[in-house]
Amino acid sequence: MEQTYSFDDVLLVPQYSRIESRSEIDIASMLDSKSKFELPVISSPMDTVTESAMASILCKAGGLGILHRYNSVSEQSLMAKESISHGATSLAAAVGATGDYVERAMALCDAGTRFICVDIAHGHHLLMRTALRNLRSALGSDIHIMAGNVATLGAFEDLADWGADSVRVGIGGGSICSTRIVTGHGIPTLQSILDCARTSYDTKIIADGGIKTSGDIVKALAAGADFVMVGSMLAGTNETPGEVLHGSDGQKFKEYRGMASREAQRSWRGKSSSPEGVSAMVPYRGPVEDILKDLAGGIRSGLSYTGVRNIGELQSRARFILQSSASQLESSTHILWRK
Ligand code: IMP
Repeated sequence: MEQTYSFDDVLLVPQYSRIESRSEIDIASMLDSKSKFELPVISSPMDTVTESAMASILCKAGGLGILHRYNSVSEQSLMAKESISHGATSLAAAVGATGDYVERAMALCDAGTRFICVDIAHGHHLLMRTALRNLRSALGSDIHIMAGNVATLGAFEDLADWGADSVRVGIGGGSICSTRIVTGHGIPTLQSILDCARTSYDTKIIADGGIKTSGDIVKALAAGADFVMVGSMLAGTNETPGEVLHGSDGQKFKEYRGMASREAQRSWRGKSSSPEGVSAMVPYRGPVEDILKDLAGGIRSGLSYTGVRNIGELQSRARFILQSSASQLESSTHILWRK
């Protein structure tokens, strides 16, 4: 059987550096030949992560937000308009691959969205092929189409052939995901990135699922991702949808839930079947801006440890090593676990 690796199995080897200040490091990335982002971070199209507040603040920080699709066409279009009034100059929005998706995508583009994400759990699917063909003919070549999710190089290249400009890579790794438990299927996200990065297509790779820290972001970029997509890293902040809830001990929480969880399915279609996700209460964390600043600082610092000034150089110079379970423990802030 093939050996596969995830983020915590590996470390990047520190290398000689001439970089005197983190300000010399550029962490910008291109989503297509016309679309440059200063921060290679995209927020997940989930109903506890991205509506207009998250999309606009991420855009200001140099990243990209994807408005979720668990609402009516007019509600999602209104969110798109609100994001652009709140100052978002780049905006993405999700659609499905059945039902109203073409009408939805056209309404979102009319509202000013330039990036459409075809958001399905198993993207290597006949429905995706048909959806990409229909969306491309309805939207033309100026609209960026992101598709996913996939886990293998073959699937990545099929989606590229079917017209996707970027592909979300990762199946089963999300913090709220139970796909691997329920179905027995999936591939560790880092391994999927390493595999898809062998492609000769210039379709962009978006690492999605299981990214917990800025260190994981640096590993994903070094393995070949152009962007990372994150849900849990942004969950619990002011800019996520939903109320702040108060625990009995005075602690504050917000809900973060998988879109295939029983709770999410009940809210958006009134019933649930075969859940492949869970719902969790995560600690309330205040403004997302502070988190994004720390992330950008952590990614820059990561590039300086490999001694490189941009993501392209990181991808050619990075050296991964495997770590043992003892070194995984040493890599954590282990004072916290000492008794
Ligand atoms: P996280 O950043 O580890 O929290 O993972 C977020 C990612 O999990 C999203 O971008 C989706 O790809 C994926 N996801 C969202 N909802 C579900 C679900 O209910 N089941 C499985 N995966 C999900």
